[in-house]
Amino acid sequence: AKKYLVVGGVAGGASVAAKLRRLSEEDHIVMFEKGPHVSFSNCCLPYYLSGTIEKAEDLVLMTPEKFDKQYNIDARVNNEVIAIDREKKEVEVKDLLSGKTYRESYDKLILSPGAQPVKPDLPGIEKVNTFTIRNVVDIDKLQQSIQRIKPKHITVVGGGFIGIETVENLIEAGYNVTLVQSPDQVLKQFDFDLSQIMHKELIDHGVELILGDRVEAFEKDEVILKSGKRFSSEVIVFGIGVTPDSILAKEAGLKLGKRDTIWVDHNYKTSDPDIYAVGDAIQVYNPISREYEMIALAGPALKQARAVAMHIHGIPVVYPGYIGASVVKCFNYNGAAVGLNERAVKALGIEYDYAFVVPKDKVGLMPDSEELHMKLLFEKPTGRIIGAQAIGRGNVDKRIDVISTIMRAKGTIDHLTDLELCYAPPFGSARDVVNMAGFVASNILHGTFKQVHVDKIRSLLEEGAFVIDVREWDEWDVAHIKGATLIPLSELRKRLDEIPKNRPVYLHCRSGQRSYNAVLALQNLGYTNVYNISGGFIELCFYE
Ligand code: FAD
Repeated sequence: AKKYLVVGGVAGGASVAAKLRRLSEEDHIVMFEKGPHVSFSNCCLPYYLSGTIEKAEDLVLMTPEKFDKQYNIDARVNNEVIAIDREKKEVEVKDLLSGKTYRESYDKLILSPGAQPVKPDLPGIEKVNTFTIRNVVDIDKLQQSIQRIKPKHITVVGGGFIGIETVENLIEAGYNVTLVQSPDQVLKQFDFDLSQIMHKELIDHGVELILGDRVEAFEKDEVILKSGKRFSSEVIVFGIGVTPDSILAKEAGLKLGKRDTIWVDHNYKTSDPDIYAVGDAIQVYNPISREYEMIALAGPALKQARAVAMHIHGIPVVYPGYIGASVVKCFNYNGAAVGLNERAVKALGIEYDYAFVVPKDKVGLMPDSEELHMKLLFEKPTGRIIGAQAIGRGNVDKRIDVISTIMRAKGTIDHLTDLELCYAPPFGSARDVVNMAGFVASNILHGTFKQVHVDKIRSLLEEGAFVIDVREWDEWDVAHIKGATLIPLSELRKRLDEIPKNRPVYLHCRSGQRSYNAVLALQNLGYTNVYNISGGFIELCFYE
């Protein structure tokens, strides 16, 4: 029998321990967790603030007793591994309740220590009540504090997915919330254009959204921003990112990777052949960017854990690389993304283009059909899919999951056009959003038509461009872009004499679909310099 020690008892740690047991009954498995709980749902923590999850103890999925009874795993909570003696193959452990230290030997050691929330050392921070969210103790402390303080106002600093989920749940619990985010957008997995939808959603739900400004200092119950703006706030929650909890590995002399992550090979082995590492703390390879990075998502941690247990038992594993498929809910909108966004693609210097479509997520006749905004990025000239983002009220995760699957299989946009997806009106449409994005991307790649995105419309009009609105009269009467000319698609072929041939012509409609048809009609009628304005009036509304 072998002896396996696991550091960290939550996502990656608990999974590796359980899988090791499933692969062998005779081995001795010990799992150390410095906190008081093993195997809790990190991802559900924010939902305790709104009462969606009623009791803090419901967040804890397994207890040390259950680990013992169900898996014969020795799970030791309040036990911190404080050093690794690689020579002797032993760890030094501190029992945080008794203060005593002891040593434990191993055949293989697996590290899954996770990542720590960043808490900035800002002037006056001791004068306010500050919180971060990593575990059940953190969320319970935050919940108990706000129930005691009854704050008139709460500030969430950081608009990543933990920040957004915290804001949503605090609003649902009835608090006044300000969200301060130093970049000019929330949720940086999305590009600026798509993130506007989330900004509107936050504002529509009463969140005071402060973008492009940063918290610089605090006074008693007061937040001071870089811009000089100050406001009262009794509770501050930081969600400004995480750093890998790699100190133990570093002190043991293990090789580190990017951003102080733990370096691992394709079998999740560290620079010591008897020590593996998984989860938020490790460096992973992104096959799209061809770069190493840190990825703090539960799915990869669990899959890495399974792979490590299998590798220890001599079962070959495949290292797939990680492309960051993720999803987030922001009130009534859902947003999912995978791969690289446009910002990242530009920074890497990849030659690319993208399709931007806004079809309905179900057959339009269905009363609950909703617009789904999708951006699909592809490499030129190969058509390789390099990223996708989808935001809507409906099933965005299904669409991004499909694209993520195709990306894993090294697919191109042409694979999306042919993809056979299940359909009935309550679920989607016969040409699903994924197919639509594929059609448009394929048309762009193969030069069927030219496009500019709607964010260019202002500058185009200022330069005197000829912009045609192909929507119908009633839509124009409700609202239209100043400087555009109305030629509804239904009148286009009768009003060709109004459309110049000697200068570029830009066409827009509500979503970019009718204008696409108009562009093709004009091209077939001999116009050579026509552009579709992708995103259309719907996207423009999010900019204004
Ligand atoms: P963890 O699950 O954090 O476990 C690490 C554990 O190791 C910690 O409990 C820590 O106390 C312990 N530890 C560290 N050092 C030692 C030591 N020396 N000795 C003993 N114990 C030690 N991901 C998603 O994919 N989707 C989501 O919706 C999502 N929502 C999230 C919401 C919140 C609020 C948070 C905090 C995270 C969320 N995540 C989400 C991220 C996800 O939880 C992590 O990616 C995942 O838990 C990583 O697993 P891990 O094992 O690396 O780290």
